[in-house]
Amino acid sequence: MPTLHEMLLPVFDEVVKRNPGEIEFHQAVREVLESLGPVVAKHPEYADTQIIRSLCEPERQIIFRVPWVDDSGQVQLNRGFRVEFNSALGPYKGGLRFHPSVYLGIVKFLGFEQTFKNALTGMPIGGGKGGADFDPKGRSDAEVMRFCQSFMTELYRHIGEYTDVPAGDIGVGGREIGYLFGQYKRITNRYESGVLTGKGTGWGGSQVRTEATGYGTVFFVEEIFKTTGESLEDKRVVVSGSGNVAIYAAEKVIERGGTVVAMSDSSGYVTEDNGVDLDLLKDIKLNRRARIRDYATDRGASAHFVEGGSIWDVPCDVALPCATQNELTAADAATLIRNGCAVVAEGANMPATPEAMHAFHEAGVRFAPGKAANAGGVATSALEMQQNASRDSRAPDMAAAVKSPARG
Ligand code: NDP
Repeated sequence: MPTLHEMLLPVFDEVVKRNPGEIEFHQAVREVLESLGPVVAKHPEYADTQIIRSLCEPERQIIFRVPWVDDSGQVQLNRGFRVEFNSALGPYKGGLRFHPSVYLGIVKFLGFEQTFKNALTGMPIGGGKGGADFDPKGRSDAEVMRFCQSFMTELYRHIGEYTDVPAGDIGVGGREIGYLFGQYKRITNRYESGVLTGKGTGWGGSQVRTEATGYGTVFFVEEIFKTTGESLEDKRVVVSGSGNVAIYAAEKVIERGGTVVAMSDSSGYVTEDNGVDLDLLKDIKLNRRARIRDYATDRGASAHFVEGGSIWDVPCDVALPCATQNELTAADAATLIRNGCAVVAEGANMPATPEAMHAFHEAGVRFAPGKAANAGGVATSALEMQQNASRDSRAPDMAAAVKSPARG
């Protein structure tokens, strides 16, 4: 495992001391500090300044109560977060995650990573992240709406198109962004469409934002293959997750001639040797909001559902972890290497543990870190912000309406 440069050890120790128990945040900071070792060796003056320390300290951390009423009339209580990490380059920018595992340490790790990812896009966006320990799974549309409205009733005072611009993440897609935007509009009495990204294309959203993270991850893999004169054609690809990032990564893999042989959700994974039927999977996940086991039930003998277990046991040429942090461990990495996996690209944020990354580097597996490989989504969000700032619309139906005089 890589070690920390001795001049950066005190910075890391301070982060651990100041943020007790926030293990995901410690992990994300350590990863960045390790990568800075060669820089500090060459420029020791950087380790002495407050720059690195400041990068590890969020500018603002907001925690709030989110009360809401469920369908049976019971009051439920959740905790909401927004960590405004760094605004050196632009308004804070980063998604909202609704998942029961959300706590300050997860939001901080995501905000920290987002700062570097956003800088890498070259767009004028700072870094932030937020969310709540709310579980949308099994909740009715009306319950999700009431939760989102209550969440925004507090969040609205902290965000704005020039201040902080949230988007989606785990558990937050087009439906939730719609409820959040509606409440923001009601409370502020402003049509400030640049306050959120990931909106529908009929009301300020950008074309291809939905697909951008997954597609971008696959474009990154293609660039890796190009360096050795290869392509995705005929490659066997395993994609973990079956949410926004996973579905559109799988879509692009298939379009480029690869075969997606396995996908998952938190209950288990499905395998299909001749390739996953993505239309069916989309129907199950995007329309029916059902579990991945239903995919195998609907497909019959050609597909196989494995409850629990590790999707990384499925032999493949390319692995795309697109579900969540630390989902690919050292043991999983060893299995992938043994099975001849050649490329791993992180569609999710920090899905590979440090030990897994180390194993890939040692084995010569080409590894694309999430800060670069999944930056397509936020880069497209920055375009959505530009479009909103200029009161422009690049929605396809609007474009068609403008072109067609018959439709006025
Ligand atoms: P979604 O909620 O759309 O999908 C998440 C998927 O991952 C679901 O299939 C979910 O299964 C699975 N999953 C979530 N938590 C776990 C867990 N603890 N164990 C196993 N599976 C789990 O989220 P996104 O696709 O938007 O996000 C996926 C990842 O990509 C996250 O790491 C996110 O931070 C990152 N990302 C997202 C971007 C975006 O544009 N949306 C941009 C850049 C990064 P289940 O339904 O069973 O929970």
